[in-house]
Amino acid sequence: MGLFDKVKAAFTKPADYQAPIDEIEERNTHVGLEETETILEEENPLVEENVREVFADLGETNVPDTDEEETSQEKYTKGLEKTRKTFSQRFNELMANFRSVDEDFFEEVEEALIGADVGFETSMKIAEELRQEVKLQNAKKPSEVKNIIIEKVINLYEIAGENENNEINLQENGLSVVLFVGVNGVGKTTSIGKLAKQYREEGKKVILAAADTFRAGAINQLAVWADRAGVEIVRGKEGGDPAAVVFDAMEKAQAQNADILLVDTAGRLQNKVNLMNELDKIKRIIQKSAPDAPHEVLLVLDATTGQNAMTQAKEFKQTTDVTGLVLTKLDGTAKGGIVIAIRNELHLPVKLVGLGEGIDDLQKFDAEEFVVGLFSGLLEEE
Ligand code: GDP
Ligand code: MG
Repeated sequence: MGLFDKVKAAFTKPADYQAPIDEIEERNTHVGLEETETILEEENPLVEENVREVFADLGETNVPDTDEEETSQEKYTKGLEKTRKTFSQRFNELMANFRSVDEDFFEEVEEALIGADVGFETSMKIAEELRQEVKLQNAKKPSEVKNIIIEKVINLYEIAGENENNEINLQENGLSVVLFVGVNGVGKTTSIGKLAKQYREEGKKVILAAADTFRAGAINQLAVWADRAGVEIVRGKEGGDPAAVVFDAMEKAQAQNADILLVDTAGRLQNKVNLMNELDKIKRIIQKSAPDAPHEVLLVLDATTGQNAMTQAKEFKQTTDVTGLVLTKLDGTAKGGIVIAIRNELHLPVKLVGLGEGIDDLQKFDAEEFVVGLFSGLLEEE
């Protein structure tokens, strides 16, 4: 909980907040972070309120309750460990060797950002804003410059994500259809399995459609996930017509009054045109019995592939009406900055993130938790 305050406080109200932050860090050297948070909450019962205020300032309406938020923050913090280490190590080195804020310094900042896959365009933009702001504030101390960097990244992030809806669009009544698209191996089937379990635990009736009939073993893989999640699966033959599977799945879902139908699709066909045609056909079949469906077309991207993921997103976006992204394997990469690049360059909302291989490691994307996960190391190691 306190971490977000730390991040925010570090750059919004340095005069008021610097002292408490120093105190927190002082304590961190003596006690574990968790204990520190407990101490803080005991000493300052308004902590949660403060955090709510910060969220409210950001226009965040549904503030998650503390307990739930803490566990998912832990997942984010753990899942982003590699990124954070590389990122903060690089920045802390930069700051340690800091002599003056000259052109070399800005170039190194640019490199560090590009290294974290923040994206070339976005990194240049951040560095440019940094140049201006450093001049404006006449910042000379490393800590001042560091805070400006964090501020710029967060600002850019928020501006790019304005009016963005990170929630999966589920119907209040009736069937919601969610189509998963993306190239082979990015984590479509796995994400469907994880999501199915979450929805079922929320008491929803979930059905899976095994419309990847192209890849050998894909149907069985989804069947294993259906079993784990305790949900039904509609499947056809390997090599069969995926649209027929989707047709059956729609019939079944409607007949059984299911809440959610998750549709797995193939990631590769003979060529790209075939793949796009097939996705179109699947959509038309869905729309025959549910004209306003699919309610989401989620493009799954593998964060470890960095700029390749960006290219895939651009291609899919051109030919399919992608409504949101699932960014998997963030735990396996030091380049979690890709989230910022995607946000700034594609304007597609990241809706889910994969932070591990476990069934509970697929999380709703939460910008605040992500940013805290990314920057906490930078502040702690000050
Ligand atoms: P698909 O071809 O798009 O359906 O991809 P799969 O669902 O078969 O996933 C490919 C591999 O990625 C599997 O070994 C998954 O366990 C792994 N995977 C998927 N999501 C994550 C994640 O968030 N973190 C990690 N570490 N591995 C993941
Ligand atoms: Mg698959």
